[in-house]
Amino acid sequence: MKTNNMSTRDEKRWQAIVSRELEIGDPFFYGVLTTGIYCRPGCSARSPNRENVVFFETPGEAEQQGYRPCRKCRPDQQRVSQDRETLIIKACRRLERERSPVSLEALAEQAGLSPSYFHRLFKKIVGITPRQYYLKHRSDRFRHMLADGSAVAEAIYSAGFESLSGAYNRNDDRLAMTPKNYRKGAEGMQIVYGTATCYLGSVLVAATVRGVCAVELGDSEEQVYANLCSMFPKASLDRGAPQFQKLVKAVIHHLDNPFERCELPLDIQGTSFQQKVWSALRTIEPGNTSSYSEIAGQLGTPAAVRAVAGACAANRIAVLIPCHRVLTKDKNISGYRWGKQRKKLLLDKEKK
Ligand SMILES: [Zn+2]
Repeated sequence: MKTNNMSTRDEKRWQAIVSRELEIGDPFFYGVLTTGIYCRPGCSARSPNRENVVFFETPGEAEQQGYRPCRKCRPDQQRVSQDRETLIIKACRRLERERSPVSLEALAEQAGLSPSYFHRLFKKIVGITPRQYYLKHRSDRFRHMLADGSAVAEAIYSAGFESLSGAYNRNDDRLAMTPKNYRKGAEGMQIVYGTATCYLGSVLVAATVRGVCAVELGDSEEQVYANLCSMFPKASLDRGAPQFQKLVKAVIHHLDNPFERCELPLDIQGTSFQQKVWSALRTIEPGNTSSYSEIAGQLGTPAAVRAVAGACAANRIAVLIPCHRVLTKDKNISGYRWGKQRKKLLLDKEKK
């Protein structure tokens, strides 16, 4: 039997096991004589007695001596850094969900780490302490609405655009102080959608907490939904609760009454050039039309005709951003993302 001399290094390793630290700058594994199982530091299994612990440099060494890998910490698989991020992201999610503060001890226990190590690791990965993270979220009213998903439309509908953009700016701050790693794990946007039919066929209206992010037109509900999926492949898409239909109806009302002003908040996402083009499109009154070269001239980039046409084709918000009001130089209906026939119907309706 191997005896455990209490060298300084072994003592440090032993402390790491007790405090469940994942990394002490000295990669090692440990076996437990009584169970014949070996673990990696940070394992959430019960701490063994010091006298039963044997240290190894590699999993291979442990297995050579007859130890089996622990099922909890899987020391035979390489995934230490992945694990740490996952643990912290889990904790972030919990802090986002909870309506009352969660103690550091509770968070650490869930992660299977010591409170002090958990605290340090959280700060290293997220950039702020768990408590700061929690407070940040509590102060963010819209974040809570997002947790509900269905409340998004209600928020857009009942809140003025001013307050919406104010809330978003606070959100921006939060994202700015969260490192890339977290954002990657935090997935993409949350989008709520609803469908209806109108004189143009099937309509799908999608919104984020900022406003309408897509209006899709098509021949069937399946088609408009498929288009939404390909537009936002990484977002989480949820069908809106019944009250979301209010927003859908507001869009349909605008389709039927193009001369009424549309005050719906839009969440416009694109390059700065695209955004300029889309803003210019929104200045074209119903009944009027423009051309790609006119808009290029308006933006002070007369040569950018093709780029303007590209930006029109990239518009995701049908009708509310009226790219259908752009024609070729000789007033012909050129391409339209949702079909030339629909473009013609829209323009006919807007004829004075
Ligand atoms: Zn283990």
